[in-house]
Amino acid sequence: MTDQNQHHKQRMERKKAVIDASIAQASADKGLLLVLTGNGKGKSSSAFGMVGRALGHGLKVGVCQFIKSRTDTGEEAFFGKQPNCEWHVLGDGFTWDTQDREQDIATSQRGWEIARKMLADPAYDLVVLDELTYLLNYAYLDAEQALADIAARPPMQHVVVTGRAASPALRELADTVSEIVDEKHAFRAGVQAQKGIDL
Ligand code: ATP
Ligand code: MG
Repeated sequence: MTDQNQHHKQRMERKKAVIDASIAQASADKGLLLVLTGNGKGKSSSAFGMVGRALGHGLKVGVCQFIKSRTDTGEEAFFGKQPNCEWHVLGDGFTWDTQDREQDIATSQRGWEIARKMLADPAYDLVVLDELTYLLNYAYLDAEQALADIAARPPMQHVVVTGRAASPALRELADTVSEIVDEKHAFRAGVQAQKGIDL
């Protein structure tokens, strides 16, 4: 073995010992709260990636899409057909389209009733609350009560919350928080939303 290869092997042995030790200390199972936030693209699509993973394992999934009203997305067309996946589109559209706070509040509260039923039902292994941060930040829902509903879910149920500007209280409650940075987005170069990528 050359010196370089020998050196690489030793380095990898040390690395493996560190990784094995860190894997061994993480032995707990629990229902997680994940928050995917930030201005970059990839929050909802990451959540839907976990929906695919969960369904692949035969788990039951509930998805609540707040804010958005479109029902022609690829994710709904695909996952909505899966027998273990319940998909609800619960929005009236973007706040700058509806321009009606009273209506947004009523729609949000109706939507939250559906989410709350899932959060109270241990049959759901994974619940996705897509774009929930806006409902909390605009006070369309009682944020404290909504976080209490999430915190009181069945102990093995996973929840994924997406949306920009997650509040400190939501981040605090979460087990995993990812802040997706907007470095570049094709939209700003004049490219419209592309099927399979954006919807
Ligand atoms: P995605 O659903 O693609 O994972 P997202 O959930 O991170 O995106 P949202 O704020 O929910 O982001 O916006 C959804 C739509 O807006 C998608 O079509 C996405 O490509 C687009 N989008 C996301 N981030 C940006 C951005 N920084 N600039 C312009 N458009 C964006
Ligand atoms: Mg999104």
